[in-house]
Amino acid sequence: MPEEVDVAIIGAGFTGLSAAVEFANQGASVAVLERHTVGWGASGRNGGMATTGLAIGFNTAVKRYGGTRAVEMFREYNDAIDTIEKLVHNYGIDCDFQRFGKLSLAFHPSHYEGMLKSQEQLAALADYDVTTIPKSEIHSEIGSDFYHGAMLDPLGAGLHVGKFVHGLAGAAVAAGAVVCENAAVTELHKVSGTVHDVHTTRGVVRAKQVLVATSGYTGAVTPWLQRRVIPVGSFIIVTEPLPDEVIDRILPNRRQASDSKMLTYYFRITPDNRLLFGGRARFALSSPDSDVKSGKILRQAMIELFPYLSNAKVDYTWGGLVDLSMDQMVHAGVHDGVFYSLCYSGHGVQMAAHMGKKMVAYMGGDTTANVWEDLKNPAVPGHFGPPWFLPIIGGAAKIIDRIK
Ligand SMILES: Cc1cc2nc3c(=O)[nH]c(=O)nc-3n(C[C@H](O)[C@H](O)[C@H](O)COP(=O)(O)OP(=O)(O)OC[C@H]3O[C@@H](n4cnc5c(N)ncnc54)[C@H](O)[C@@H]3O)c2cc1C
Repeated sequence: MPEEVDVAIIGAGFTGLSAAVEFANQGASVAVLERHTVGWGASGRNGGMATTGLAIGFNTAVKRYGGTRAVEMFREYNDAIDTIEKLVHNYGIDCDFQRFGKLSLAFHPSHYEGMLKSQEQLAALADYDVTTIPKSEIHSEIGSDFYHGAMLDPLGAGLHVGKFVHGLAGAAVAAGAVVCENAAVTELHKVSGTVHDVHTTRGVVRAKQVLVATSGYTGAVTPWLQRRVIPVGSFIIVTEPLPDEVIDRILPNRRQASDSKMLTYYFRITPDNRLLFGGRARFALSSPDSDVKSGKILRQAMIELFPYLSNAKVDYTWGGLVDLSMDQMVHAGVHDGVFYSLCYSGHGVQMAAHMGKKMVAYMGGDTTANVWEDLKNPAVPGHFGPPWFLPIIGGAAKIIDRIK
């Protein structure tokens, strides 16, 4: 643990490590402080889908922010996938990165209408082409009758995130960053301006700047941020390897698929022919018990979508926390001398890696590097610690999905 650094980064996930690579390559001294181990948070637990588009539909973004701003934000996600591709290429990270395309599935006929609207607006405002697929043709993309149409964006990618996050850590260390595992930050003591004494379970480090990259694991060390992040469990099951003909039936083109339910499902085929199937399942936090319960719900859901998988064995089940914000938008900036980037709202594989890099420019004074800076970021009313309100939101989401 160094005694003094230019930058201390809290959290060794995509955000923190991608920032560390960039800072170190620019010659800054960097310490990444991680409570557990590299990739222990969402970055090592997610579905590996680096997809295009915001966490909200493009048509919703246009309504909320206007066409020009919505296009700028949409493009940031495409740039984010490019960022991953460059990191993979530049540092020779062997992580099965491949652009399979993103398949967005309409859970309700009205959601398909929204997709048609998004397609029209993307072409008109962003000069960007996506394909829409009506229900009558959906078997060309998915072996399920569950959905009412789909939208296909060819740029979405898939990757093995465990390999990617460790590749990033290796690149950061090779560039001169220090990655301190089992170093939980317990207190940030402001010295002046952006300079802080960062107290950890392994000692104190004085940093000229601090970047908080704690995502759904944001805690009491940064109470202002904690009040703005809603941690929600996302859960995954992975089947045994399946025969080629079954895989060809599930997702013949190996797309990264996700649907438009409130309690969304997302799924993809792994390079070793398994179906990875994820979702918010119960809108609960993740814990060993919670993951098992959620895994059972997801297995039922998988069989509802793909009845021919009723005998498929589930080899793996796990869960982790995603960081929702009230508006489902990324929030990044500086508060009281401490920099932060979080609230990827379940779309952080690409955006976290991208924002790590962008925050380096932002922290160097280039405010244009952070396209999210002007978004209002109110505290969640009544949220001061554990998210007691999750069962209420989860219950409402289930009812909305059931009604539809
Ligand atoms: C099950 C699951 C599936 C997902 N699937 C997808 C997907 O397919 N596509 C997609 O785009 N996104 C997905 N996501 C979201 C995505 O994984 C995250 O948005 C992204 O990984 C966030 O990266 P991060 O580096 O900001 O945070 P994280 O990877 O969560 O890292 C934060 C780190 O901060 C550490 N930390 C917290 N507090 C402290 C402290 N006080 N001191 C030291 N360290 C601390 C934690 O231990 C943790 O390791 C998924 C998330 C989950 C949980």
